[in-house]
Amino acid sequence: PHLKASNSLSHSLQAKMSRPVQARRLEGIDKNIWVEFVKLAATYSKVNLGQGFPDFPAPDFLTEAFSRALSGGNHMLHQYTRAFGHPPLVKVLAQFFEKLLGRDLDPMTNVMVTVGAYQALFCCFQALVDEGDEVIIIEPFFDCYEPMVKMAGGTPVFVPLRPNPPKDGKLMSSADWQLDPAELASKFSERTKAIVLNSPNNPLGKVFSREELGLIAELCVKHDVLCISDEVYEWLVYDGKQHIRMASLQGMWDRTVIIGSAGKTFSATGWKVGWVVGPDRLLKHVRTVHQNSVYHCATIAQEAVAQGFQRELMLYGKPESYFVQLPKELQQKRDWLVRSLDGVGMKPIIPEGTYFLVADISQFKSDVPDVPNSDEPYDHRFAKWMVKNKGLAAIPLSAFYSEAHKNNYTNFIRFCFAKEEATLKAANDILQKWKQEKTSS
Ligand code: PMP
Repeated sequence: PHLKASNSLSHSLQAKMSRPVQARRLEGIDKNIWVEFVKLAATYSKVNLGQGFPDFPAPDFLTEAFSRALSGGNHMLHQYTRAFGHPPLVKVLAQFFEKLLGRDLDPMTNVMVTVGAYQALFCCFQALVDEGDEVIIIEPFFDCYEPMVKMAGGTPVFVPLRPNPPKDGKLMSSADWQLDPAELASKFSERTKAIVLNSPNNPLGKVFSREELGLIAELCVKHDVLCISDEVYEWLVYDGKQHIRMASLQGMWDRTVIIGSAGKTFSATGWKVGWVVGPDRLLKHVRTVHQNSVYHCATIAQEAVAQGFQRELMLYGKPESYFVQLPKELQQKRDWLVRSLDGVGMKPIIPEGTYFLVADISQFKSDVPDVPNSDEPYDHRFAKWMVKNKGLAAIPLSAFYSEAHKNNYTNFIRFCFAKEEATLKAANDILQKWKQEKTSS
């Protein structure tokens, strides 16, 4: 009888184990490009131009502010701070965005601090997207938008930027990738709840023009659609171009949430300090998600970022400003990488902003062994082959497309150029050696 009892117990345990454990909202979103490619880069790369983070130090004024906060006299900086944002940080962010947007802001209701822009995005999708809502996403896109929309119960609707190569044989620019206005308009309907805008855009580096933003704004107003505006690369704009804020366009403040990141702004991605700026009618719901998930963010990091912004507010527009210096340095790095890639026939698409650069690998098809019957896109196979055989890590562009459109964009890879001169030189050495081997074989 004893044996029988334990048998039936293990039976019932088994029965319990066979029940699906996974929530339905996670179906089909378990794959993540970064898990795979970060691991490959860690294992094989000598030069990592894959994931987007600087390998140069964050500015001294920022790290010094962190040290002061850590070991200065205020022991309360080791405790919880205000849940929707450390007061000094929301105050200075409000002051800063008042300047940028030309409107009065209330630090307590128009600004919220998050664990990086990533959590800001998550809070916005959860707060604003309902079961059955459609959300328009412009391709190529920062990959997490799609699973985040789905997790909120929404349906992503994709609209691609279409490349128009210049006829004069010049290198393509990210500005040559454009929305087709009729195609964009056709995606808006009464089911559309929001559009995600990411300007400057990861991965292309496209900085949307006033006309392009105006077109999107007009459609948002016409169809009563919200805009989730991911502006984490707002300061990384080159060649005298200007980042135009969607929320500053007529009729858009009331329907836009602006998302930013201290990680990108101050070259400290490991700190994971981000924010949402917007009207209280939207932010009050974003706060509801935050208070029921993360609630508090790390106090010391917020204190240091607040001091960083205070410095930048004082130096606004001046040559010593980090927001003036960083893009200047990055533009040089961009130009080095452009020359390296162009020199070996990996045609770069010159980015107007961000620290990413997309390059055309169609001339390298014969380098990569064909895998018969594989449905893995060429850019994935190429990026894997390149890191394993050349030690150079990059990210396949098709990872930034929806399943349905992936196969139209398999001839490109994305590089990150927020790297020390030595790293970019090492990348150049790899490319040059590769070219010599190609010409001598
Ligand atoms: N949005 C975009 C477009 C990004 O590229 C990134 C980081 N790669 C994020 C959001 C997330 O930023 P954070 O590191 O501050 O969470």
